[in-house]
Order: sequence, then structure tokens, then C-alpha cells
Amino acid sequence: MAFMGTNSKKWWAEGIQFECQGSGNCCLSRGEYGYVFLTREDRQNMAALLRITTREFTRKYCDKKNGIFHLKEDSSRAECLFLDGKRCSVYKARPTQCRTWPFWPEVMNAKTWNKEVKTFCPGVGKGRTYTAEEIEKSLNLQKKSESQLLKERT
Ligand code: SF4
Repeated sequence: MAFMGTNSKKWWAEGIQFECQGSGNCCLSRGEYGYVFLTREDRQNMAALLRITTREFTRKYCDKKNGIFHLKEDSSRAECLFLDGKRCSVYKARPTQCRTWPFWPEVMNAKTWNKEVKTFCPGVGKGRTYTAEEIEKSLNLQKKSESQLLKERT
């Protein structure tokens, strides 16, 4: 994930329809662009769900890219280690970037949204409408998490 882009144009002022269709597309590994980056809090939450220590979780499931933790990629699988069929096996404790998808700063510009997100994610245009406030909240959560990742970089 190249997560540093920003765009605050509010073309979504009327809200956006989105409902996860369980495609698992966002859980597929796409090399470093598909990395699931993890703050310390993300790792703590996942470790707690799995009933292991954060240290164990980190050792077993994490790698680092430029000093930032992300979920390990397994070359024998095309998808996230925690994808079980089309279901996230750690859904309750899934990382922030999985919670905030698809409302990420880097994709919330009309061009990327229409060209990439809409074709990649079958949940766009389905289900309930997320209000501008909800989208803003998700964007802010994602931005906060990205800043935290940089603060925790070693
Ligand atoms: S942690 Fe769960 S939601 Fe996030 S990429 Fe992995 S399987 Fe998908």
C-alpha cells in the first residue's frame, strides 16, 4: 500500500454507497502495494484475539518494510495470511487499514476512485450510503494510523 497520498476534495459530499461483498479482493497480496501495515495497537489487538503476546504475534506474523511493521507475505499464498476462504479470520481485531477501506486518503480522489477502486472493489455502489461525515471519520482514522506508523518506525 502506498499510503501517503492525500486529497481532500469533497466530491463525496452526498455520500457514497458501499457494502462489503466479501470478494476478498482487498485481502489479496499484491507485493508491497498490498501490504497490510500495522501500528502497535493493531498488533496488540490481533494478538489479544489470537490469545498470544504481542511479541509472539510480531515474530510469527510480521515483517518490516522501511522500519514499519506489516503482515508477512507468504509466497505460497496469493492472499493475506488471515483470509480464510473469503472471510477474515481476525475480523473483530482486523487492522485499521482493513477497517477504513475503501475510504483511504490515497484513493479518495475522483480519478482514482472511478478508475481503480470501482473496478477493483465490488462493494462500491452497493448497500447503504455512507454519509460525508462517516467518510471523513474513516479518512481521519486512516490518516491518524498512517502518522502513528511513521512515529513507530524504527
Ligand atoms: S487482516 Fe483480514 S481484512 Fe485485513 S487483509 Fe487480512 S484477511 Fe483481509
